[in-house]
Amino acid sequence: MTHVFHRQTKSVPPTAAVGDGVYIVDATGKRYLDASGGAAVSCLGHSDVRVVNAIKAQLDAIPYAHTGFFTNEPMEKLADFLVDAAPGDLDMVYFVSGGSEGVEAALKMARQYFLEIGQPERYRIIARRQSYHGNTLGALSIGGNEWRREQFRPLLIDATHVAPCYEYRDRRDGETTEEYGIRVADELDAAIRAAGPETVAAFVCEPVVGATAGALPAVPGYLKRIREICDRHGVLLIFDEVMCGMGRTGHLFACEEDGVAPDLLVIAKGLGAGYQPIGAVLVDGRIYAAIRDGSGFFQHGHTYMGHPAACAAGLAVQHVIRDDNLLDNVKVRGAALRRALESRFGNNPYVGDIRGRGLFLGIEMVADRASKEPFDPARKLNAAIKREALERGLMVYPMGGTIDGRRGDHVLVAPPFIIDDSHIGEIVDKLGDSIDAALTG
Ligand code: PMP
Repeated sequence: MTHVFHRQTKSVPPTAAVGDGVYIVDATGKRYLDASGGAAVSCLGHSDVRVVNAIKAQLDAIPYAHTGFFTNEPMEKLADFLVDAAPGDLDMVYFVSGGSEGVEAALKMARQYFLEIGQPERYRIIARRQSYHGNTLGALSIGGNEWRREQFRPLLIDATHVAPCYEYRDRRDGETTEEYGIRVADELDAAIRAAGPETVAAFVCEPVVGATAGALPAVPGYLKRIREICDRHGVLLIFDEVMCGMGRTGHLFACEEDGVAPDLLVIAKGLGAGYQPIGAVLVDGRIYAAIRDGSGFFQHGHTYMGHPAACAAGLAVQHVIRDDNLLDNVKVRGAALRRALESRFGNNPYVGDIRGRGLFLGIEMVADRASKEPFDPARKLNAAIKREALERGLMVYPMGGTIDGRRGDHVLVAPPFIIDDSHIGEIVDKLGDSIDAALTG
């Protein structure tokens, strides 16, 4: 009997007892290779003593001080680190405790910015259908995952949704990748014009889509076009890098690879690598200045923002990534893992697409490769893959349901940045067996 309200109410999951590098060991001693970092969180694995010691030292010094009264050293240092590394003019950092909180803060910051600069009519948010931005009501409103939204529709705020950038499914015959990227980006231009540009505050997207599409990068040129469209209409550009950011793609910020900087950039997950809950919004200097020189107060906040232990964890995680050259490992092992997945699944008639960047890779399952017809959702293929993998001691992050009005099953593979070749072999072998078993089961 448990008194914990687990999300899956019909069963109690195993007890995670010990972390051992890329493995989680449960209370019975069974080992699980964490090939998804939970939900793309645990980028350093589960037992980095440098991070643990940094948290302990901070707890010894001071565990908590409310940001309404104090700043603290790890928060200041982590902000310096992030601003130093960030693209564009992102030179202020607003700390929160996770991804949804970060998205909520970014939306409110965009709204307040327009009030401060005398454009109170700007409030609308445009986002994309194939997207997930969090489960709090504001973030859920702008996300496009119907499976998550459906029950709560009466509570959601009004947001406009445009097409995702999903080349595998949506590029037309005879269209080049670049032409496709421009065409689909231009849907944003049309949506802004239809809404009335003077009413639109921000456009939000994930540079590499995570939880709704299994590591789906935008095609080259798409985000540049999006940036131009936002600039043309005075609309703020918000990137949600909660899942794809903080090194996962081989760059500290995913958007670096696209050569595009947003006005607000939301990060979480890999920032604290799961050692502590932490997220942040990186803010363009002119947005900060408008609030500083206007009302002088951002009308939003949370009790645990800038938590000293969480910031100490974030700072230690970022130092480990830098000191151990882990972004190089993400690139090298990411390429090796991708080759291994392609060689294991290249001839599998039920694997439609293998995609992603760095150690952020996705596999899209299809009932028929030629037509790209997805599996019947009643079959719950993604749940079967997860179950088979767990039985074999492997954690991957499968997802399915109805997304953007389409059915689909995806498997996200997002292992810690510290994996080596033997881990890659184990991931591909176990995932191959799990997928085979799920397909025949
Ligand atoms: N944005 C993205 C892109 C995410 O992947 C997630 C979490 N999967 C969130 C926001 C929400 O983050 P959290 O669960 O930490 O609130």
